[in-house]
Amino acid sequence: MAELIDGKALARTLDERTRADVAALVAAGGPRPGLAVVLVGDDPASQVYVRRKIKGCEAVGITSFERRLPATTTEGELMAVIAGLNADPQVHGILCQVPLPPHIDQGAVLDAILPDKDVDGFHPVNVGRLSTGTGGIVPCTPLGVMMLLDSVLPDLKGLDVVVIGKSNIVGKPIAMLLLEREATVTVTHIHTKDLPQITRKADIIVAAAGSPELVRGDWVKPGAVIIDVGITRIAGENGKDRLVGDVAFAEMDHARAVTPVPGGVGPMTIACLLSNTVKAARVSAGETVAEAETL
Ligand code: NAD
Repeated sequence: MAELIDGKALARTLDERTRADVAALVAAGGPRPGLAVVLVGDDPASQVYVRRKIKGCEAVGITSFERRLPATTTEGELMAVIAGLNADPQVHGILCQVPLPPHIDQGAVLDAILPDKDVDGFHPVNVGRLSTGTGGIVPCTPLGVMMLLDSVLPDLKGLDVVVIGKSNIVGKPIAMLLLEREATVTVTHIHTKDLPQITRKADIIVAAAGSPELVRGDWVKPGAVIIDVGITRIAGENGKDRLVGDVAFAEMDHARAVTPVPGGVGPMTIACLLSNTVKAARVSAGETVAEAETL
């Protein structure tokens, strides 16, 4: 039976550490970390995510600033809101919930966030820092994946890892973080030939394709560690939606360890967002990125 990697428990531990770090920062005369969450339009899934992020802030002592804007907001109006948040000393992290309405250039908006306040780690400066291994803010889901891996396999040196998916927000940054840890990384995608043949050689598989139960039992060698990033909402027979990962969980008995969906990578993402916000606040208070990394 494979070990279950409990993302909920790890996220709780990280939140406790973040809460203690916020208290220590404030007690030492530093700023109370502040996170601005910008939501444009009324996409129901985005509203749920934003609510969870605001609740997460409350739980660890981070001040949240919510900016809800109508779907008709122009790119210029949104840019003005971002500029205001960039200039606000109480705001240490800015998160602009994506997707944005189609009339707004998403890339231009994310580029407008100051790199030091970019707690999602999507700004080209942070992407560049990640790919050169020179610090910066690491995207939340990839950071959570690394923490989950660390909980079962602290030394990744020389291990063969297959990442399924090459998106800018998940697959590529995960590959960069794994390379930094000296794993041997193969990044695969929808056009990869004979994917099962490649995954069968892997010590670790990180699945981030958004394709329900893509990874079958016979794709996985005995003793491999499996991290399932995928989340697809599927309508259940009882009228309730259920979340399905990219891994056929019931076929993973021969793996060494596997993350469930839900309860694996998902809970880590918000916990990492909160810890990134505290890191940004510490940097704003004069700490170097390396010092703030000690979180
Ligand atoms: P994306 O659509 O931007 O990228 C998907 C990638 O997977 C692409 O590179 C594509 O080529 C590849 N892919 C798709 N189908 C494939 C297949 N059959 N075989 C091989 N490769 C395939 O998606 P994304 O934003 O990177 O997200 C990926 C998944 O992770 C989604 O299910 C998303 O919901 C989930 N996600 C979860 C969290 C979390 O907090 N747990 C955060 C972000 C994304």
